Amino acid sequence: MPRKSWILVTAFVFVVACATRQPGDPLKPGYNTFSKEQDIELGREAAAEVRQQVDVVKDQKLQNYVKVVGVRLARQPQAEDYPYEFTLINEESINAFALPGGPVFIHSGLLAAADTEAQFAGVLAHEISHVALRHGTSQASKAQMVQLPAVLAGAILGDGGALSQIGQVGLGLGLNALIMKYSRTAEKEADALGARIMSEAGYDPLAMAEFFQKLEEETGGSQPPAFLSSHPSPGNRVQLVRAEMQTFPPGQYGYETGDFPLAKKLVAQLPKPNPPDQKQVANAGASPPSGLANQGSFQRVNARTFSLEMPPGWQTYGGQGSNVLTIAPQQGLVQTGRGGVALGYGAVTSNFQPRYSRDLLNGAYELIDELQEMDSTLRVTREPRQTKVQGASALVTELQGRSPYGGVERDVLLTVARPNGIYYLLLVGPQEQFGQLEPAFNRMIQSVQFR
Ligand SMILES: [Zn+2]
Repeated sequence: MPRKSWILVTAFVFVVACATRQPGDPLKPGYNTFSKEQDIELGREAAAEVRQQVDVVKDQKLQNYVKVVGVRLARQPQAEDYPYEFTLINEESINAFALPGGPVFIHSGLLAAADTEAQFAGVLAHEISHVALRHGTSQASKAQMVQLPAVLAGAILGDGGALSQIGQVGLGLGLNALIMKYSRTAEKEADALGARIMSEAGYDPLAMAEFFQKLEEETGGSQPPAFLSSHPSPGNRVQLVRAEMQTFPPGQYGYETGDFPLAKKLVAQLPKPNPPDQKQVANAGASPPSGLANQGSFQRVNARTFSLEMPPGWQTYGGQGSNVLTIAPQQGLVQTGRGGVALGYGAVTSNFQPRYSRDLLNGAYELIDELQEMDSTLRVTREPRQTKVQGASALVTELQGRSPYGGVERDVLLTVARPNGIYYLLLVGPQEQFGQLEPAFNRMIQSVQFR
């Protein structure tokens, strides 16, 4: 029965989502607690860090080519006039990413994989659309955000620069938070807006969808292109773009700079990319916890509406102002390459406001759905079971996913009914070492208090 009502809720959410936007309907940025200026500042700061960490292509002819195509697209009114910058980096994997407020980075492998300029332009138009629709900071704005985006939100709301706080704790940068995996809804929107931008710039919008489709089809069995893991397919992209195009005024789609063949030739001649900076990946193969420090005592952490105890040696990331806290020892944070950071073991705690559910059970499933949007490997392994926290009804749900250490991750999710929504505490650890973490996790659960 509980499962059934959840399915109903899902079906309802699905119908609502489908009803909200028809092809041709205007696209607007969603919920966001950042200002446009903060998007720009955050992106600028992060882009400077990225440039230090990656191998920027030195061939000016190539950089120019990317810029010419990018600027033509960025000039279209739908791009919303952000200070766009296009940078080609020497990196063989097929990927591209945009930072809030305008910086767009393209891997040389992506240019090498494109068959036509329109395909390449399609990726740029898609990235520009993520910027214009402010998907990065919109996702970071959601209070139910897990993992380190909370750090950024906290840093922005609290003291200091967005990235400096992360720098202070020796994490490199929290780029993961900004070039995180987009939701399928965001992907659909970026395709739709990207199609319009392409059309106005004179490129065939179908080339964008066909290129993404090609990447999906070519991956049979082997490691899928990195692009697809941060830009998950929202379904039949060609069909979606085609439907969108039917709402456009008739256009001429034959535009080309004429320099694509030269760009392809130059990209094939690039020197072998440098191996990733040692410093960057220092923590990448970090080992999971080999036992908790017993020295010292647990310390109470006070957030705005709740407090709980954390084990000795752990710290909090995320401002108290944001009310979203990541609590972990430094070794619990794993660098995932090119500055990304993931939570290997530790806790994330906050309040969650269900949008569709009134009761705790369905609210908890709604939260789980949000968590799964962020991490598609998460699966419920043990259905919610009843408990009490400070006299309030609570549920404990167990999940599994892929650990950033490799192997299986175990997650215990505590959800508690509160007058204004749900309080949650997500405890994360590698399956194999979970037993060692359990006493600390239990104590954390038992220490939760509300104000
Ligand atoms: Zn995307």
